[in-house]
Amino acid sequence: MSGYPHLLAPITLAGVTLRNRSLMGSMHTGLEETGDWGRVAAFYAARARGGAGLIVTGGMAPNREGGVFAGAAGLYSATDIANHARVTDAVHTEGGHIVMQLLHAGRYAYSKDCVAPSAIKSPISPFPPQELDEAGIEKQINDIATAAARAREAGYDGVEVMGSEGYFLNQFLVTHTNRRTDRWGGDYANRMRLPVEVVRRVRAAMGPEAILIYRISLIDLVPNGSSWDEVVQLARAIEAAGASVLNTGIGWHEARVPTIATSVPRAAFADLTARLRPEVTIPVITSNRINTPELAEDLLARGVADMVSMARPWLADEAFIAKAACGRARDIAPCIACNQACLDHTFSGKLTSCLVNPRACHETELTYSATPAPKRMAVVGAGPAGMMAAIVAAGRGHEVTLFDKATQVGGQLNLAKQVPGKEEFHGLVDWFAGSLDHANITLKLGVAATVADLQGFDEVIIATGVTPRDPGIATDPGAPVVSYIDVLKGAHLGRRVAIIGAGGIGFDVAETLVHEGTSPTLDPGLWRAEWGVSAPWDNRGGLAPDGPAPHPPAREVHLLQRKAEKPGRGLGKTTGWIHRASLAMKGVRMIGGVNYERITAEGLQISHGPNRERPELLAVDAVVLCAGQEPERGLSAELTRAGIPHHLIGGADVAAELDAKRAIDQAARLAARI
Ligand code: NAP
Ligand code: SF4
Repeated sequence: MSGYPHLLAPITLAGVTLRNRSLMGSMHTGLEETGDWGRVAAFYAARARGGAGLIVTGGMAPNREGGVFAGAAGLYSATDIANHARVTDAVHTEGGHIVMQLLHAGRYAYSKDCVAPSAIKSPISPFPPQELDEAGIEKQINDIATAAARAREAGYDGVEVMGSEGYFLNQFLVTHTNRRTDRWGGDYANRMRLPVEVVRRVRAAMGPEAILIYRISLIDLVPNGSSWDEVVQLARAIEAAGASVLNTGIGWHEARVPTIATSVPRAAFADLTARLRPEVTIPVITSNRINTPELAEDLLARGVADMVSMARPWLADEAFIAKAACGRARDIAPCIACNQACLDHTFSGKLTSCLVNPRACHETELTYSATPAPKRMAVVGAGPAGMMAAIVAAGRGHEVTLFDKATQVGGQLNLAKQVPGKEEFHGLVDWFAGSLDHANITLKLGVAATVADLQGFDEVIIATGVTPRDPGIATDPGAPVVSYIDVLKGAHLGRRVAIIGAGGIGFDVAETLVHEGTSPTLDPGLWRAEWGVSAPWDNRGGLAPDGPAPHPPAREVHLLQRKAEKPGRGLGKTTGWIHRASLAMKGVRMIGGVNYERITAEGLQISHGPNRERPELLAVDAVVLCAGQEPERGLSAELTRAGIPHHLIGGADVAAELDAKRAIDQAARLAARI
């Protein structure tokens, strides 16, 4: 008997029996736009092989004006069908099922051709949309239905109609974006006419034996969003129009509330799906920040939903369900909801991948094949780079000895996991530690490897990481200066703190210092109060009328950098705003363009601007150095002197912009080719 009886139970939708209740949620990968459909097929086939019950593709545009950006992939014409058929064939060959998401972006389309119910520009796009006339609306509905018919021709088991996240259909539903006075606007019956008509026509285009998922926005998180009564009214109308199942959508893209980032509590919005479930007779799917089979099982067992959508977890591990089903759940590489290699890439026009799994979307070009010539390999440093190198190399058949001078594995990840809001890093370190428990890996912890230790190996990989940079600021003896390492290891600081350096670590340290007590990430009630989220049945759109009510800061914090730009600009594209907003709510003073004059017993003396104007004493009890990193290459230099060739990876190679994503990717690629 599996430990996940509810998750692994089959379910039938529109006559199609799915082998389990896991839905791989829609993600834009960028693969389709490469034109290499073999690669698209390989990506989805791997997830089908890994047990996904039902896969939803990335959003496909029904027409050019509806594309998320100019040139976005879609099913615009009959010639696209053959490409999509390669994907559906590959998934079906693996015993899986797949539906295509129909995504019309409306005013979110990053294109001058974008269209919308009303000509109201979105705050997240520079392009004002054109207001559609009656014929234009009919064209959009027709194009969506035609694309659904083409999806069936291409072999998809159905479609998901994207009706949430503030896209085209969602834009009709609320007065925030729909100011029309014709039959497509005004009262709610008129505002919901378009989504309902789309579903009716899509069902007619596909016939009865096709899965039709409608993704419904359960909480808009924007001003004048839908009321709960409207959500329920819509859900029932969508069911009557022919949907087979309702998927949960949370928050518009322009919402100023995080909905999937790592600091959002796990399953934070599942109670909304639970509230919808008794209102309809078709199954419902819950979503957002669900990343383990245990949690998915629990939600299903508690009757929250009929299926569970997980998206990014399928990037982190393409065998998510297969591992759960055979008792290997602890081997599932965890999605830590960092967005660093998935959404941040998408929004930078790069291919999606995964920090934890660099093979995601690179299945055809990064392969871990068994080695024909096993080697003896030493890896020094059990941080993310060293651990990944050891795991991939050992998996390929090499015999690896992994050294670290610390008595536990994880390197800097052990610091990250101390930051409130980064609790997912615990699971990542645990996964690495579990994966190192491999027959081909000898772990030597508490051993600072020397040149002598490394003699006789066929390959030596140096992953010794970084050392904190000393910014060389004039400092009086006895002045209260500490390193970020001390802070993240729990050093007690006074109530007033200045942080030198506003990079990723400066922000993490600030977050740590302003918090006290339970991390809101572990307490959904606290988290909702911090971000001003209310129940949508209490307030339209789920926004608390008084806005965010953050817990008072534990300290007065100054976060400083020399660059004149806004601090935090270099943080993740999709998460930087969350860190900035979170610290702003805690009253952190974020200042760019400062000069560090001196650290004294009284605090930090700074001045402002290139001409060192407005001298100021920040009267603080502690100054924390977060001034970046230098590569730790001492051992590498000794090996070079001893004539021992070696590979440098991770922070020991490049400390600037050091991050786990680059380190893990570099390590995997090296270990894949040795
Ligand atoms: P960083 O991002 O490179 O930031 C270093 C900070 O120190 C900058 O604010 C820089 O600003 C300042 N600085 C650099 N040299 C200095 C000097 N000589 N004197 C005074 N200030 C100096 O490095 P980090 O904060 O140590 O983070 C390391 C990496 O870890 C990051 O790049 C990131 O990739 C990763 N990380 C990411 C996250 C995340 O949220 N995704 C979180 C933590 C860590 P000025 O030069 O303008 O003063
Ligand atoms: Fe999850 Fe981060 Fe991987 Fe994206 S990059 S799938 S958020 S672990």
